[in-house]
Amino acid sequence: MNQTSEFSLIKAYFSALTPDRDDVLLGIGDDCALLKPPADQLLATSVDTLVSGVHFFADVDAYRLGQKALAVNLSDLAAMGATPAWFTLALTLPEVNNDWLKAFSAGIADLANQHHSQLVGGDTTRGPLAITIQVTGFLAADKAFRRDAAKVGDKIYVSGTLGDAGAGLLLKQGKLSLANLTESDQQFLLDRLELPTPRNVLASQLLGEIQSAIDISDGLLADLQHILTASQVGAIIDTNALPLSATLQKLPAEQAIKLALTAGDDYELCFTMPANTAGVLEAALGGQVTCIGEITEFPSLKLLPENTQQNLDVKPGYDHFS
Ligand code: ADP
Ligand code: MG
Repeated sequence: MNQTSEFSLIKAYFSALTPDRDDVLLGIGDDCALLKPPADQLLATSVDTLVSGVHFFADVDAYRLGQKALAVNLSDLAAMGATPAWFTLALTLPEVNNDWLKAFSAGIADLANQHHSQLVGGDTTRGPLAITIQVTGFLAADKAFRRDAAKVGDKIYVSGTLGDAGAGLLLKQGKLSLANLTESDQQFLLDRLELPTPRNVLASQLLGEIQSAIDISDGLLADLQHILTASQVGAIIDTNALPLSATLQKLPAEQAIKLALTAGDDYELCFTMPANTAGVLEAALGGQVTCIGEITEFPSLKLLPENTQQNLDVKPGYDHFS
């Protein structure tokens, strides 16, 4: 990309996109951003790349793509218990398309505003469409939600509903039977795929109450397995307890449960809570979370009712290198 168009593009679409935070001493425009973290907090940082044709369809709506690119990163902060603060954006574009850039940057801005998060820098290059966002958030040292902190006897919870994004993907691929689905069901599934809600508000309500969490990007079983491995524990999951949206409940039961267990892209939180405090907190969260099982001794991951695993022939989530 030539320098003039690169600089004017940054100025037009990214320089003043997001809220001005007091802890940003110098934002976009110099060689580095200068940032002032709170003295008593840790920085939590994470990066995720979305590649055209791998993570999204090349023709996806640009507003939704911008929003999702930030959402998946905010979701990582939520899964750690960190409060979003700053992010950077590395953008590789095949061409400069002003309509596309306008919509894409608006998608980012709307979500960034909701989470009072500021875009403080980035990089802009020409090539096959790819979006990398790095987020940074703040966190008290003793409050982090760690994958290695689940304990035998903990209850296992998930937020929201599971499997909707996976059904949305099947819908886009023309692989979902539309028999019982209305237009609004179909829109709901597409929205769940393309506009995930990162659970940062819930995460802030869980601070100090839970020790272990992960966000569900690759599928419940695959992501829960990361907690089990890191914590050296097992789990028992009641598949009848999995939270399914009204739309997913219109699919054949086996398909719905399989999607809820194995499909990615929901960006819900999966976390564990000590059994003695779980009831009170669950009530306080008023329907945002559902108990789906319990942490058991290492290493088994068991699904109830008996034979669910064999009957559904479930496999772990998406692995880029398998
Ligand atoms: P340098 O050559 O020093 O890396 P660049 O020309 O890449 O600087 O970028 C100029 C300024 O614009 C920097 O402050 C950089 O962080 C910012 N920037 C570049 N691309 C983006 C982008 N896509 N979003 C936000 N800021 C960007
Ligand atoms: Mg650069």
